[in-house]
Amino acid sequence: MEKHCKKCLLPDTYPGLTLDENDICNLCNNFENEIARKSSRLFENEEELGKFLRKFKKRGNKYDVLVPLSGGVDSSNALVTLVEKYKLRPLVYHNDDGFVSEIASENARKLCAGLDVDLIVWQHDMTFMKKLFRYINESDLKISTCLMCGTILYLNNIELARKFNIPLIINGFSKGGFSIITNRPRFNDMVEQIIAEVLKREDIQFVREFRNKFKLMDEHVILQEMKDAEESIRSELPLFIPYYMFKFNKTDKEAYKEDLMRRFGWQPMPTSYPCRTTNCIMIWLNTYSDFRKMDYTYFTEEYAYMIREGEFSQEQAKKDLMFSPPPGMLKKLAEQIGQDAFECPDTVTLDNWGKPCK
Ligand SMILES: [Zn+2]
Repeated sequence: MEKHCKKCLLPDTYPGLTLDENDICNLCNNFENEIARKSSRLFENEEELGKFLRKFKKRGNKYDVLVPLSGGVDSSNALVTLVEKYKLRPLVYHNDDGFVSEIASENARKLCAGLDVDLIVWQHDMTFMKKLFRYINESDLKISTCLMCGTILYLNNIELARKFNIPLIINGFSKGGFSIITNRPRFNDMVEQIIAEVLKREDIQFVREFRNKFKLMDEHVILQEMKDAEESIRSELPLFIPYYMFKFNKTDKEAYKEDLMRRFGWQPMPTSYPCRTTNCIMIWLNTYSDFRKMDYTYFTEEYAYMIREGEFSQEQAKKDLMFSPPPGMLKKLAEQIGQDAFECPDTVTLDNWGKPCK
């Protein structure tokens, strides 16, 4: 039976993970050196951050920043703060992959109308996205489908920022999500693995599109240290900043919700997975597929980070990561993307390591 880290809960089957004599993993033991952790301390206070952002306000440019907006409470609040408090002029990007709720898209429209800012809704071509889901889900690759989908959306941000000559991209990545996206060697490896898999199916068109998309990774700079900002200005490549860098005060999610509802007619969205979060319903099928191959998912990894950071307790993480899709949901989604490689149960309940619950 596999063991897991007593602190962050990651199983020892996680690539590169080793446990010490106390069953604490190397990621937990080396946490102080984590880049995402360090980057969250780049700005001492709000004033410093404001000064920093003003450097990127280009005269004559219509937009200061590209902001992806899911329509959920976190990204909605981020947008409102960037516009009202930091006086940035955004271009807002809402992704519609066909699996997000109609309420999410409505929220995006209402919010942008209320703030009087430009909104682009990008419905990524469904053939490509469905293939991406199916190819990874049906394979034996130990790669999280949601991670790859999220990365495509991240790359769409870069594409838009380049197109509209926008110097900044600010998105709502958690420190966990940020630490994953900054690991380039790992991404390159995953991309090559997926390409090798798709080549077996002889889908050259997909390979070409997928490879081209990932070239965008080289067309932006991620803010990890201060010198990255200079690099971005010098090279005229957009600078990516995770929104958590803006949090100087503890935030009250319920108060945000009320404010959004009152001022913009915003509505709470149905939740999917992990519990309490609002996201695309495809997460159900993709996570189930991940659990068939691994005893962790992108979300286990993200939550492990948040536990180390002290943002979640183990108990909360275990609860949130409990996997129990609505009856019939897995089958329905598998049919929608034409996935037939394995049977999906009508109902299933798995713990945070993908093991059946009694
Ligand atoms: Zn650990």
